[in-house]
Amino acid sequence: MNVLLLGNGAREHALAWKLADSPRVKSLYALPGNPGTAQVADNVDISLSDFAKIEQFVQQNRIELVVVGPEDPLAAGITDHLAKTGVRVFGPNKAGAQLEADKWFAKELMRQQSIPTAEARSFTSADAATEFVKVRNAPCVVKAAGLAKGKGVSVCYRVADALEAIDQAMRQKVHGAAGNRVVIEELMSGPEVSVLAFVDGRSIYVMETSQDHKPVDDGDTGPMTGGMGAYSPTPVITDAVLKQVEREVLVPTLDGLVRDGIDYKGVLYAGLMVTAAGPRVLEFNCRFGDPETQPLMMRLKTDIVDIMVAVCDGKLDQITLQWDPRPAICVVACSKGYPGKYPTGVPITGVADADAMPDVKVFQGGTKIVDGKLVTDGGRVLGVTAIGNTIAEAREKAYKAMEKIHFDGMHYRRDIGHQALR
Ligand code: ATP
Repeated sequence: MNVLLLGNGAREHALAWKLADSPRVKSLYALPGNPGTAQVADNVDISLSDFAKIEQFVQQNRIELVVVGPEDPLAAGITDHLAKTGVRVFGPNKAGAQLEADKWFAKELMRQQSIPTAEARSFTSADAATEFVKVRNAPCVVKAAGLAKGKGVSVCYRVADALEAIDQAMRQKVHGAAGNRVVIEELMSGPEVSVLAFVDGRSIYVMETSQDHKPVDDGDTGPMTGGMGAYSPTPVITDAVLKQVEREVLVPTLDGLVRDGIDYKGVLYAGLMVTAAGPRVLEFNCRFGDPETQPLMMRLKTDIVDIMVAVCDGKLDQITLQWDPRPAICVVACSKGYPGKYPTGVPITGVADADAMPDVKVFQGGTKIVDGKLVTDGGRVLGVTAIGNTIAEAREKAYKAMEKIHFDGMHYRRDIGHQALR
């Protein structure tokens, strides 16, 4: 079948790599794609926000499956838009994508379904939010309710920091319209894990566990990023806790969506904190995580097209997921200055050498080709993913491969997987 993948990050390169592996795929297209996806797919030069052109492409190229990588097109309703063409779309409709795109929608659903999460209040007035924080006089987390690329969340240990975060989001509008509403949450503590599940509208199938590393520096310090690395599986979440997450979080979330008449098809991603009182939901995402997808795709043995078609057709019960038991790890290399301002167009060397190493795959994110040469084109430039018999072995392979890659100002964390190695 002809498959169209939407997106241009390292997550999409990993998905394209896995899709290309399927004997069911005749032609694979990545829109807009990047130099990584171009290794296995035909890149299509159409903007992700141009739904009319995407629809035309789907029809002209007899696409049978559209896989949506990032959240923005889902939140803007690409699935609803393409529904009239009859094509299968892997990714929830606009109503379902609110789980990620509107943190207050997610909180309300969790409250109605008694899903364990941080206590929270929502505000559309900066003055009311300020008053609440002053009276509460305790550490809290201030979140812009809309999509802010991982930058809309401030963990505030001091009241003054929370007041500043409210001012930035609601008065200065540093996150644009995403900050029209803020959600103020109780501060929780504990390790964070990601549990992703396939959802076919009525049933769910939980994937292997993984753990992302959001802060930019070693030891989980420094500003938040889109994700500096990930590994799978993680010992932070035991089988018993995973079952608990399925029972207390994923199933009731799907029940809530069904109750609201939402036909949710795609990936449901629960970002969790494992607190002393048990797992609590930090956030939901309506798509695969980046970088969790990279180790997950390296470990997935089942044909991903079979899974995605089953998701779209509501036949997930006919699928069995098989995983390579070996752990995999992804280390992300970033541009100088990321997550702040960073240069682009910086030449990159060594990717082919790293890619040629056994059990290693380099998934490209913010890269492009200029005059035949690979250069940087984003904050998170690429991720080196490796698989090994143990997490320590996978990690050693990933870092060895990373040593072969160079671009000016490149930085990456040296401690990805540290919680698994303790
Ligand atoms: P954005 O909406 O800007 O894209 P996001 O969806 O990544 O951001 P969250 O996952 O809700 O936002 O929060 C980002 C990080 O902030 C979490 O990974 C966690 O480290 C921290 N965090 C969020 N909520 C809490 C909380 N209630 N207690 C402690 N830490 C939290």
